[in-house]
Order: sequence, then C-alpha cells, then structure tokens
Amino acid sequence: MYRNTSTPADDNGCGWFHLSPPRDVRPGHSGRTEARWVVLGAGFTGLAAARQLALKFPQDEIVVIEGQQVGFGASGRNSGFAIDLPHDIGAHDYIGDPATARMNLKLNHFAQSMIRTLVEQYGIDCQIRADGKYQAAVEEKGLAVLQAYRSGLDKLGQAYEMIEARDLPEHLGTSFYRQALYTPGTLLLQPAALAMGLANNLPANVSLYENTVITHLEQGDKITLRHANGEFIAHELLLCNNAFASHFGFLPGRLLPIFTYASMTRPLSVEEQARLGGKETWGIIPADPFGSTLRRTPDQRLLVRNSFSFNASGQAQQRYLERAARQHRTSFDRRFPMLPDMPFDYTWGGSMCLSRNHSSYFGSLAPRVHGALCCNGLGITRGTATGTLLANWLAGEKDELTDFLLASPGPNRNPPEPLLSLGVNLNLNWGQRRAGLEA
Ligand SMILES: Cc1cc2nc3c(=O)[nH]c(=O)nc-3n(C[C@H](O)[C@H](O)[C@H](O)COP(=O)(O)OP(=O)(O)OC[C@H]3O[C@@H](n4cnc5c(N)ncnc54)[C@H](O)[C@@H]3O)c2cc1C
Repeated sequence: MYRNTSTPADDNGCGWFHLSPPRDVRPGHSGRTEARWVVLGAGFTGLAAARQLALKFPQDEIVVIEGQQVGFGASGRNSGFAIDLPHDIGAHDYIGDPATARMNLKLNHFAQSMIRTLVEQYGIDCQIRADGKYQAAVEEKGLAVLQAYRSGLDKLGQAYEMIEARDLPEHLGTSFYRQALYTPGTLLLQPAALAMGLANNLPANVSLYENTVITHLEQGDKITLRHANGEFIAHELLLCNNAFASHFGFLPGRLLPIFTYASMTRPLSVEEQARLGGKETWGIIPADPFGSTLRRTPDQRLLVRNSFSFNASGQAQQRYLERAARQHRTSFDRRFPMLPDMPFDYTWGGSMCLSRNHSSYFGSLAPRVHGALCCNGLGITRGTATGTLLANWLAGEKDELTDFLLASPGPNRNPPEPLLSLGVNLNLNWGQRRAGLEA
C-alpha cells in the first residue's frame, strides 16, 4: 500500500485556463467503482490513452481520474508549442544519433496528425496554427547553438531558414535577436483549450472524474486507488500523472518535477500592434535551453516563459512564482522597449517532468500497472503519442514506434536526497545565470 506523499496543487494564475471557453466540469467521484481500465491523470497523455483504450475496447468502461480540473494542470499551462523536430540537448548538434532522431520525428508527426484530426473532427477552438517556430539567439553561446543545430538538421534532411538580425524585425517586431533559425513544422496552440476540448469529446465509454485526488494506491490481484470520498478498483492501471507517479513509489528519484513559469499581457491595442510590427502571430524558443520562450497569440497577447525551480513536492510555491514574475518583467522590457509599462494579466508556473538523461518511461511498471511518463518538456506531442501507443500496446498491437519506446532506457537514477535537491538547484541556478541576455 502506498500512501501518496504529495498531490497536485497548481497556482490559480494560468492565463490559458482562464481564457478558455467555459465547459461543464465533470463531477468528482464518490463511492466504489470497479473498471477494467483506469487511467490516472487527464493531461495530454492520459486523455490520449483513455481515448485510444475506448476505441480498442468498445465493450469496456474506461475510467479517467483527474485531481484538479482538466486544463488546470501542466497540460494547460505550457507554451503551446506542439513541436515536430527532435532537439536532443545532450548531443553536440542537438540531433545526435540520426536513427533515434528519425523515430522521435515520426512520433511527433504521429501526434501532430492526431491533434489536427481531433481538433477538426470536434471543432475544438484552441487557436491552432501551423506557424512553425523561431529558435532565436542573442548571446555568442546561443549563436553557436544555432550553427550546431543547423548542421544537425542538415544531417536529418529537415527544412529550415536562417534569418539574420536585420531581417528579424519583419518577422518578430523586436530587433533584440542577432539571429534565428526558423523551422516550419511546429503547431502553435492554446493548450488549456485543447485539453478541455479533448476532455469534452471523449468517447461515450469513457467516464471522467475531475477534482478527485488519489491519495492511496494498493497493489494486489487488482489495483485499489483511494480518495477522500471513495475508491476505484482497477484491473489494469495506466499511470499518466507525470512526476506524481513517483509519489506512489514508481521510478523513485528518477522523475524530476522542475517548474517553469510564464506571464501573459493583456491584448495589445491596434496602435500597440503597429508599434510592435512583425507578423501577426509567432512563437520563439530560446537557443539556450535556460533562455526565454515567447509567443504572440492570435488574440494579440504576448507571453514570456522562463525561470526554473525544483519543487520536489510537485506543488506550486508562491516565492518562486514571485521571483519568476520579476524575471518576466526584465525579459519583456529587454525585448519590447516599444511597449513600455505593458501589464501582465496573468503569471503562473507548472511542472515539467524531466529526467537527467532526457529519457521517458513507457511500458509496465509492475503487474497490472503501466505508465507513459516523463515527457521532458515536450508533452503536447510526446504525451499524445505515448498515451495512444500505450493503449495500442495493451491491446496487443505493436509497431516500430512502440518498439522504439519500449527499447528506450527510461529515466536514469539520481543521487538520494538531500544531494538530489542540492545538485538540481545548483544546475538550474548556474544554467539561468549563464543564459545572460537570453533569459
Ligand atoms: C510553463 C510550461 C511551458 C511548457 N511548454 C511546453 C510546450 O510549449 N510544448 C510542450 O510540448 N510541452 C511544454 N511543457 C511541458 C508540458 O506541459 C508537459 O510535458 C505535459 O503537460 C505533460 O503531459 P502529461 O499528460 O504527461 O502530464 P500532466 O499534464 O502533468 O498531467 C498529469 C495530470 O495528473 C494529475 N494527477 C497527478 N497526480 C494525481 C493524483 N494523485 N490524483 C489525481 N490526479 C493526479 C495532475 O493534476 C495532472 O493534471 C511546458 C510546461 C510548462 C509548465
């Protein structure tokens, strides 16, 4: 029996969540429910797994449990880049082994195609646009990353465009960056609206319970999941709850809940848009992984994401949020001097589940317990693909993508606490300091 040592508790500041179309939240669970399939976590991974299980097992009831509201967790808090290209920050050219990179590319394309199809099929209003992404640099180190990534993309035969400083304001308005590498294949979207839209349109044999926090997990012939008002009995359990899986004793110390933070302005007026210039919408990711991600959204807000903290509990912490908000202001003002005193309507944080070796977990964790965990900051595509493929695999289907995921080494071990927190915090602080103007 595992008594959960920490449960999800995100802050209430997420702009995407509050700006999403209203929906009927599914009621929390009470009493006792037994089901063949239970999915824990209704982020992109859990929603994809539940949908696919429902299609593969039309006679079974599929239960999905979410501790908060759908769209309130990390899946609704991210920057909305559904990225196609692999970006292995452990490899010198960010591509690494071409065979592995090609499989990751296939996985991401598989997920993008699912997302597009579902958005179209159900008319999900999530501002999805095939805008591509700019990877932009301002520091020497960042410029070197762009050159290295360029050679990796050549190796992989992927299209890109290098854009020099003089031409960047035409694209982005700001003249802050010295160079950018544009790749066309990324989809930009409103993540909370997508997660909610997917939850609203689950197949009829899926029962979703929101605001139902699982506090105890007991393994036996069947799996018992307890919460404050009752319990679920699962014949098969799929853990799609990101780093919280380790609070039930799975992959202990290997799933790192690293928080990152975002702020979003009010919509720019027409005059402010003219002052900014550039394209109507865009997405920028930093050349330095510790730098800032930015978005110009279809409703003309600007978003800035940066700053990291290691919240071992997986829960939000106000002091880190406040520190990040100060950094967002500095980062915004550096890039957009033409928009002085622009207020942020929203500031929030969220957990990325990272592993030290950037590897995810896919497969069985124990008898009757399976997992698709640790998207390493790329959960829109990765979670959609791995959730779907986990369901396929449990239905007895295998293909090259499933084989690839099953063969992955999985998240590696870390030193025990307090060394772990010490090491991660040192690494995060050092990385953020070195990012210089890219932060
Ligand atoms: C600010 C920010 C920016 C990011 N930018 C991007 C980006 O642009 N593109 C991208 O692809 N990724 C991005 N990410 C990462 C992305 O959000 C994650 O990879 C993704 O959310 C993982 O999806 P998931 O479904 O696996 O997990 P989650 O979204 O974390 O879903 C797991 C769910 O499980 C629930 N849960 C956990 N424990 C319990 C319990 N005991 N009982 C009940 N429910 C439980 C949680 O409430 C949660 O909703 C970003 C993340 C952040 C925070």
